Amino acid sequence: MYRDKSPVFVQPKVYPAHEHKISPEQIDEHARYVIEKLRTAGYKAYLVGGGVRDLLLKQRPKDFDISTSAKPEEVRALFRNAILIGRRFRLAHVRFGKKIIEVSTFRAGDPGTADLIVRDNVWGNEEEDVLRRDFTINGLFYDPQSQTVIDYVDGYLDLEKRVLRTIGQPHLRFSQDPVRMIRLIKFCARFRFDIDKPTFEALLNCKNEILKSSSARILEELLRMLESGSAKTFFHLLHEYGLLRPLLPGVADYFDKSPDNEILALLCELDADVRKGSIDRSVLLSTLLFPLLRHRLLLRAQKSDRPFHLALIQEEALRAIDEAFSTFFLLPRRLRGMAAFVLTAQFRIQPLDDKPVRTLRAPRDPLFPLALKLFKIRAAIQPDLLPYHTRWTEAGFAEQTVPLQEIHPHRRRRRRRRGRPHETHDSP
Ligand code: ATP
Ligand code: MG
Repeated sequence: MYRDKSPVFVQPKVYPAHEHKISPEQIDEHARYVIEKLRTAGYKAYLVGGGVRDLLLKQRPKDFDISTSAKPEEVRALFRNAILIGRRFRLAHVRFGKKIIEVSTFRAGDPGTADLIVRDNVWGNEEEDVLRRDFTINGLFYDPQSQTVIDYVDGYLDLEKRVLRTIGQPHLRFSQDPVRMIRLIKFCARFRFDIDKPTFEALLNCKNEILKSSSARILEELLRMLESGSAKTFFHLLHEYGLLRPLLPGVADYFDKSPDNEILALLCELDADVRKGSIDRSVLLSTLLFPLLRHRLLLRAQKSDRPFHLALIQEEALRAIDEAFSTFFLLPRRLRGMAAFVLTAQFRIQPLDDKPVRTLRAPRDPLFPLALKLFKIRAAIQPDLLPYHTRWTEAGFAEQTVPLQEIHPHRRRRRRRRGRPHETHDSP
């Protein structure tokens, strides 16, 4: 659908190759192929967003997104390997093996009101497409043919000045899509840029609107930050700017009450670790939650002198997860179960009563190596844990280095039993 509105005519600044110094070889060959094919078919197409930003910052982009005048169905018709995804934001994924190139159609975007955007599928031209994007540094196009950076919003200068600024009126932009506030803190943590004053004031004013956004999108951003290598700064800023409390009140309480914040210390170790290789999401989540579980267990131990067995610890682990997340989030059931296992198994590796264990026994569970991974992260800030880790690894229990979903990408689903067609039970 096109919006019935005259297009915005802004004269862009165009930066030639000798100024921006991006060379075409730095751009993923599949992204170049997609742009070329779209252009040969008569459409406009540019590299846009994080890919251009990261190249200008001399960092390796995580992904290369493409913006085009072709509508999603036209992209699908052009590429055999394309599928369309998303209802709120319809776009095409063009697949090359494991790699996905995201191709989105120019959108008219900004309706000029503070109403929450529930659908963003009104097509527009390239200027309008830039103006609906979140921050100026994310609003740059790169044209591989002329090797120019095209800038409608002064994003190039903001990148040089290391400033984060919303495109358009910040209050409006945060109210329309509160996830942008999390994205602002994400870029602040990742690049250590300053936040432009009006953008910062709007962040503080709009922070409670964060609960209006989709919890699934926020959860995805939080998990992505846990695996970004900048999780410590991100969670610190999230708390400092007042967004941690509405999202994760239990974690915010912990931050307030703990002068030597163990969560931040663990996240610092996690940051160092994820830079070496990706870590399963259950371990990421458990790193955030472990100090909360230990706090619960200490409180419970003060109330009763019965010894703790693993079933009871697991019960507390599930409570710690639910208490932290359930005010706003709906954790996927599988992730919740895996995190509970990883947390509980910390006390199998080092029993709470510290009794020496003669034989090391662990369930033949593929998740156990994930628990060892978290234990290793904990041992980095608590060296007296290292001998336990060594004992287990010497006994042949290796710690997990690759996320489970990469090892078992196609887990077989249990067949539904006949006669119960509406059953929705989906535990693994
Ligand atoms: P990353 O390096 O984490 O992928 P990114 O900026 O590329 O960062 P994406 O989620 O890949 O983030 O989004 C691609 C582009 O889409 C962004 O650079 C931005 O221009 C635009 N965008 C993403 N989310 C929003 C949003 N909530 N509102 C407006 N524009 C957005
Ligand atoms: Mg991106």
